[in-house]
Amino acid sequence: MSGFVYLVGAGPGDPGLLTARALEVLGRADVVLHDKLIPRDALDAAPAAAELIDVGKIGGGPQVPQAETERLLLEHARAGRTVVRLKGGDPFVFGRGGEEAQALRAAGIGFEVVPGVTAGIAAPAYAGIPVTFRGAASAVAFVTGHEDPAKPETAIDWEALARFPGTLVFYMGVRQLARIAEQLVAAGRPADEPAAIVQEATLPGQRSVVSTLERLPEDAAGIRAPAVTVVGPVAALRDELAWFERRPLSGRSVVVTRARAQASALAARLRELGATVVEAPAIRIEPLPATLPDPTGFDLLCVTSPNGAERLLEEVRDARALAGPTIAAIGPGTARALRAGGIEADVVPERAVAEGLVEALRDVPVSHALVVRAEEARDVLESALRERGAEVEIVALYRTVAEPPADDARAAALAADYATFTSASSVRHFLAAVGGRLDGPRTVSIGPATSAELRAHGVEPDVEAEQHTPDGLVDALLADAAG
Ligand code: SAH
Repeated sequence: MSGFVYLVGAGPGDPGLLTARALEVLGRADVVLHDKLIPRDALDAAPAAAELIDVGKIGGGPQVPQAETERLLLEHARAGRTVVRLKGGDPFVFGRGGEEAQALRAAGIGFEVVPGVTAGIAAPAYAGIPVTFRGAASAVAFVTGHEDPAKPETAIDWEALARFPGTLVFYMGVRQLARIAEQLVAAGRPADEPAAIVQEATLPGQRSVVSTLERLPEDAAGIRAPAVTVVGPVAALRDELAWFERRPLSGRSVVVTRARAQASALAARLRELGATVVEAPAIRIEPLPATLPDPTGFDLLCVTSPNGAERLLEEVRDARALAGPTIAAIGPGTARALRAGGIEADVVPERAVAEGLVEALRDVPVSHALVVRAEEARDVLESALRERGAEVEIVALYRTVAEPPADDARAAALAADYATFTSASSVRHFLAAVGGRLDGPRTVSIGPATSAELRAHGVEPDVEAEQHTPDGLVDALLADAAG
């Protein structure tokens, strides 16, 4: 039986612009034939066992010839596989998706087209340029800038384009920019009409230049492919409507040293604020096999980290088992992790440090305390409880182990603007991984225990969060970046 082919648009680069349908079909692909200009996360959406074949090119570089791409499509489909043909932007906009669909039709192979967000829409949008605008542009044309406008056989009718009553959007036009502008002006488009070019749109490296049609080629001399050129009065709206390049952390790179399993929320928040995030986890959480004593034998249960909360919930399985003891969480993050399992902590200190928890428990009667935590945790809490005459049992539910970052992540981390640390163990392991020195980035610490660990390694934290949570860390970083 023949397989099936999905001709899928991956959008312009920002993984958030992949469609739900694209992710869905990627999730069941046997084979993915992909271009170069597609978001990395798109390939992560394919099953681990899927075969990934790069048929793309960058600029004028070597490319798998179109005939070979089509041959591969047919071959894999005929072998009964589910094939995703993944293209940048939209598959039917300058993507040769139409030709591939013809080849599939001719071969009698079923296909579906999954449209994507095309660069001609996304690049202007991320630059703050609406391609249509009441009173200023009531039509928009997508044009290839690939062809040499000086060639007599050029397929582009410059007179018609110059007269076009709306916005012109050129793809693949970086090298021909001067000729495009010249031809348009020669054919009657006003030389002083606003024009803009947007490079690497929707990606952290996005750059835009706004000028006039006549001056754009000179003003945009530093712009490289991939870029989209927009000609029309709407280009002038960028001054007012730019947003992507004006986000608070645009142009800054930030290292996240958290364990990968926990890094994603922090990384996503930083990206949303415009940062280029370098994920350089130096640690990994390793669950420890534990025999948890019966919680009903205790009057206090202390949970000292979100990881501890998650592990506890895994071990306990049935929340009713925790009905007896007073439950104390070290901070809001841990309380949140408990809440995810239907457990509402009774005690949550304002300061998410062991000393804060000791203080918050001052008036709570305790005779038998159970503390679940990391193997390598500090024992401030246990000592304080014992001093009060309580019996304390400690159960280590996990440990953090070193996971040295890859070489490229390490190099990118050292060149970054900020390095963030959310625990003492990430400080220890990250500094060990980079040879003990951290001269480049400004260091941002989540709280006093993490700061103390930095100082112990001779690094004075530049920023310390007031709220000892990932959100608090981001707030502190933002304040520093703005100052
Ligand atoms: N099918 C794609 C276009 C492929 S042609 C789509 O619908 O978007 C390749 C051209 O698309 C590039 O030369 C450039 O003009 C444009 N392009 C693609 N990704 C881009 C990006 N992130 N930023 C700016 N232009 C981009």
